[in-house]
Amino acid sequence: MRQSQLFTKTRKEAPADEVSKNAQLLIRAGFIHKEMAGVYTLLPMGLRVIKNIEEIIRKEMNAIGGQEMFLTVLQDKEIWEKTNRWSSDKVDIWFKTNLKSGGELGLGPTHEEPIARMMTNHISSYKNLPIYAYQFQTKFRNEVRAKSGIIRGREFSMKDLYSFDLDQTGLDAFYEKVALAYKRVFNTVGIGHQTYRTFASGGPFSKYSHEFQTVCEAGEDRIYLDEKSGIAVNKEVLNDEVLKDLKLAKKDLIEKKTIEVGNIFKLGTKFSEPLGLFYTDESGVSKPVIMGSYGIGPGRVMGTIVELLSDDKGLVWPKTTAPFQVHLVRLGENQAVVSFADNLYSDLEKRGVEVLYDDRDLRPGEKFADSDLIGIPVRFVVSDKTVAENKIEVKHRTLSESELMSIKDALKIL
Ligand code: ATP
Ligand code: MG
Repeated sequence: MRQSQLFTKTRKEAPADEVSKNAQLLIRAGFIHKEMAGVYTLLPMGLRVIKNIEEIIRKEMNAIGGQEMFLTVLQDKEIWEKTNRWSSDKVDIWFKTNLKSGGELGLGPTHEEPIARMMTNHISSYKNLPIYAYQFQTKFRNEVRAKSGIIRGREFSMKDLYSFDLDQTGLDAFYEKVALAYKRVFNTVGIGHQTYRTFASGGPFSKYSHEFQTVCEAGEDRIYLDEKSGIAVNKEVLNDEVLKDLKLAKKDLIEKKTIEVGNIFKLGTKFSEPLGLFYTDESGVSKPVIMGSYGIGPGRVMGTIVELLSDDKGLVWPKTTAPFQVHLVRLGENQAVVSFADNLYSDLEKRGVEVLYDDRDLRPGEKFADSDLIGIPVRFVVSDKTVAENKIEVKHRTLSESELMSIKDALKIL
């Protein structure tokens, strides 16, 4: 991509009403646009980051047997009434709307109800189980506070996975597989070192659920962490019984601010029973399907990467999520420099390297400031000086020194 063609421009200031660091930086760098509080458009570079995060999650979900599908946003009131989750007294974040022909619809805040009903078409016998299905879908939630940028949107994307098992043993085994897959996801996107599997409130089917909580000053959640064992408990559930249960001593626990980047939940029969999702076992007995649900917010993950890794110069993307692998920055307009940089650009493209080529006629200081703000992991600089030596200057976003290298050597670091 030639930067001169990119319609997004960097900005000195974020909107005055934007208080979160993640949205401020992402807006200034041209990754997102703020429509209104809690509602953000993904611009080309923001979309590239989200697609990278989604692809990392998708690989892990497929590897544990997940089948990708795509449910609808519009929700049928009837099924949510069956589980007692239509009423705003029960679920207070609904966005609802009316049909012209009469009747109410909801915009899905989550998808347990529709997927459980849908699966009644596909599950009747033990032979049909287990099934693991997931999607990346836009969710709508009328969140009261929307001050954390893309970490808490009113419209946001979620990867939600649902498991359908014969029994508790099947669920327990799959639940642990998802937990490991989530750990790999958070490691790959670059926040694993600060992310803890955390005991959180369960339901009638299991004492605890688990959240994946990333330690971060911008976090809205609070956990208690035992640094020695790595065991973490959401502050909301910590009491004497839980301490005893998990063999923890209050004095060893440190309170941390965290962002919940994912969670996993054993649902049991909470949705299958009211929605009529049953199967016939080997001896002909009808039994409710045992469900679990597992969520990660790609947008929240992107916001967490920004909160955790960015510095005073701007964004810092790990290789795995960066919008481009390399930022090729050309200094000057001399014919020799232009043709050197143009050739390098097309060579990189031919090799399948994702490259943002700053071919704009701007002062070096402006170009470097933009490059730092955008945060691509590696920068290749082409100038009169480098061309004279038939080399390029290579700089990593997080290092202060740069190094003069041959193109051949520079390619090796990509
Ligand atoms: P929170 O307690 O932060 O509101 P939640 O418990 O409502 O989160 P879930 O319903 O379990 O979250 O959603 C699964 C995942 O979706 C979360 O772990 C998070 O990554 C993401 N997520 C939830 N709400 C939002 C939101 N408003 N904006 C962006 N991502 C979200
Ligand atoms: Mg919530």
